[in-house]
Amino acid sequence: MTLQRILIAGGAGYIGSHAAKAVRLAGLEPIVLDDLSSGHEHAVRWGPLVRADIRNADGVRAAIREYKPGAVMQFAARIEVGEGEKDPAHFYDNNVAGTLNLVRVMLEEGVKNLVFSSTCAIYGDPERLPLTEDLPKKPVSVYGRTKLMCEQILEDISKAHGLNFAALRYFNAAGADPEGETGEEHDPETHLIPNALKAAVGLGGPMKLFGNDYPTPDGTCIRDFIHVTDLAEAHILAANRLAAGSGNLQLNLGSGNRNTVLEVLQAVERATGRPVPVTMCPRRPGDAIALYADTTKVRRELGWTPKLSDIDTVVSTAWAFHRRVWNVDAKAAE
Ligand code: UDP
Repeated sequence: MTLQRILIAGGAGYIGSHAAKAVRLAGLEPIVLDDLSSGHEHAVRWGPLVRADIRNADGVRAAIREYKPGAVMQFAARIEVGEGEKDPAHFYDNNVAGTLNLVRVMLEEGVKNLVFSSTCAIYGDPERLPLTEDLPKKPVSVYGRTKLMCEQILEDISKAHGLNFAALRYFNAAGADPEGETGEEHDPETHLIPNALKAAVGLGGPMKLFGNDYPTPDGTCIRDFIHVTDLAEAHILAANRLAAGSGNLQLNLGSGNRNTVLEVLQAVERATGRPVPVTMCPRRPGDAIALYADTTKVRRELGWTPKLSDIDTVVSTAWAFHRRVWNVDAKAAE
């Protein structure tokens, strides 16, 4: 089967909007399904927007009947780990019940291919690094549990009803579209790179650095940053593989690179030419010491290689985007 249209649930959000652009660049039509609860209408630029919540069966059904997508990409989810601990019911409802509803309607309407946004948070504190797909799944957050539950639901539904799915377990998605057409616009922003950029340009005071007493070379956590455009590209490859009959795919989607938080701050200083003021803070609850992917399986299964995921490209594309969105040059000229 050849894909023509792809329904992108959560396509007005950070990763979803990059995926929509990648779908368009691949010669397919992206149909965005988003309730705009956290996504942005201005980020829907590469195809139509259907404004509906994934928990609304009628809304999902109407979008599928109108556009007849060959596959669905599911990005619509609550993602802020702290928020999940404070309001778990909201997380389970959005992430688990929402995904289940989406999949039920897909199957009722005969759409069998799903690329699902999962996370390395399903592994919890890993026993071994780099992380391979076979490691035990022991999430330590509500957020991680919602994603693991979704994967389990997808496996069961796949066995019973022939759903084909790819669960892509993201590491740290970061950076922005190299052409500056979309980028990261979370509110509130909790992620390292945008927060470091904010601090570098003097927006909102120094960045809180959560913990410098970890057992790592410089005392700060180690992460695997993957450029969001590389990540989006993997979704296209996965959708095509599913449509070609690959069977289900469960893949760690990181760059395989490792950077400490302090190394990221240095990259921000190189990109902006400005120091990043920081306030030292205690460890943030739930942060694993180190998370980085073994990328053997994703490279083999998808024929994918990251092209933009070195830390300087990640940070400089994020900087170019935020510099424009925050009007940094205009403010400097005032
Ligand atoms: N971090 C930090 N200050 C911030 C945001 C993040 O020190 O304002 C640290 C965080 O403690 C973690 C790393 O940066 O060690 C990456 O955090 P982020 O929230 O970007 O992604 P996560 O790895 O939690 O998904």
